[in-house]
Amino acid sequence: MKILLVDDSKVDRLRVSECLEASGFDFVTAENGTDAWEILQAPDAPTFALLDWVMPGFDGIELCRRIRTLGSNGAYIYTVMLTAKDRKKNLLTAMDAGADDYLAKPVDPCELRARILVGKRILDLQQCLRFSATHDFLTNLLSRAEILASLERELVRTQREGRPAGVIMADVDGFKQINDTLGHPAGDAVLAEVARRLKSDLRLYDVAGRYGGEEFILVLPGCDLHTGARRADEIRRLVARDPIVTPAGSLSVTVSMGVTVTSCDLETTLETLLQSADAALYRAKKAGRNRVEAFSLTLKLDGKSR
Ligand code: GH3
Ligand code: MG
Ligand code: MG
Repeated sequence: MKILLVDDSKVDRLRVSECLEASGFDFVTAENGTDAWEILQAPDAPTFALLDWVMPGFDGIELCRRIRTLGSNGAYIYTVMLTAKDRKKNLLTAMDAGADDYLAKPVDPCELRARILVGKRILDLQQCLRFSATHDFLTNLLSRAEILASLERELVRTQREGRPAGVIMADVDGFKQINDTLGHPAGDAVLAEVARRLKSDLRLYDVAGRYGGEEFILVLPGCDLHTGARRADEIRRLVARDPIVTPAGSLSVTVSMGVTVTSCDLETTLETLLQSADAALYRAKKAGRNRVEAFSLTLKLDGKSR
């Protein structure tokens, strides 16, 4: 957790900085609201903010309000107002603006440390809840809703900027048979391990999600159809390479994959994109499984044929 300390008073900034340093916290400082706001909007921004109330330009209260407009997309930013104003009325103003806590100046090092530890606990909990809400419990991949939202975002980006994104739909071969012969818990173990292998070779900006029972979607920004198909084949081989160990024994598992690509064509929708991946996947299944097929316009878009 990184902390942002914003205070226009050099003396106060130094005093609090010394406390933070002595406790070993990772922190950055800003002298005014404008600079602080910029820091908070950058990638990997601090998630804990110590805000001085009275500052020239925009003050701590205004900063707090702005932080709360960042909405649920980014990580939650825990805010503590630092001020000499310690009357109850002021406390309510700060909380109303979105502050999580309040600390009177001059700051007492012990109290500061205690408040930061409480904030950290809340941030950790929030991160945990956020992860559970966006990820599939069994495989830890993105949930269906999240992977579809990622796919939609990439589609919009392609239509705006022209850069394609490869889309891989992967389905475990003969999975029903695995459940039937080794039991459901072994089937679950297979799904978890297949998911781990599917994402083990991904780049930082690629995403993987569980689309349904034993079906997965990978989104590879910047990959055209050809590159997407090549990467799909590498991942397919990785899944098949070593047997998967389950409590009921080990077995070889393969996946079939259908690959498609986002298009600048404004007629392309999330639905037609999924249909094209599904049509390619159907062809891979029909051609004998454990293989990759790329979508081409000669394929019929009849997603229900599988
Ligand atoms: P194909 O090669 O054509 O894909 O055949 P398949 O057997 O993999 O496909 P089918 O769609 O017939 O079977 C999928 C099975 O996946 C059926 C369902 O019970 C099982 N399944 C779905 N979700 C889960 C899960 O979370 N855990 C386990 N163990 N099984 C699941
Ligand atoms: Mg299957
Ligand atoms: Mg299936």
